[in-house]
Amino acid sequence: MKCIICHGEDIKIREVNEEITVGSDIVHVPVSTPVCMTCGERYYDRRTMQYLENAENRISKAGVKLKEVGKVLIYEEASHSA
Ligand SMILES: [Zn+2]
Repeated sequence: MKCIICHGEDIKIREVNEEITVGSDIVHVPVSTPVCMTCGERYYDRRTMQYLENAENRISKAGVKLKEVGKVLIYEEASHSA
């Protein structure tokens, strides 16, 4: 298998966190998937895509138990605009 982005051949199965955005929150969904070690491109197969779709549907509904592992914070001390 060759990477379609960088044509690298170093593709390994890795445990990665796919990010799903729900409002202002980000939910990490851990999945095992082939990842290009050169450029970081992830290759999800059909089963993983379906799993992620299913996870997104479930997360967008109320009542799904999610563990809080961090916070998304915003820096607004000073204005960035000139
Ligand atoms: Zn690549």
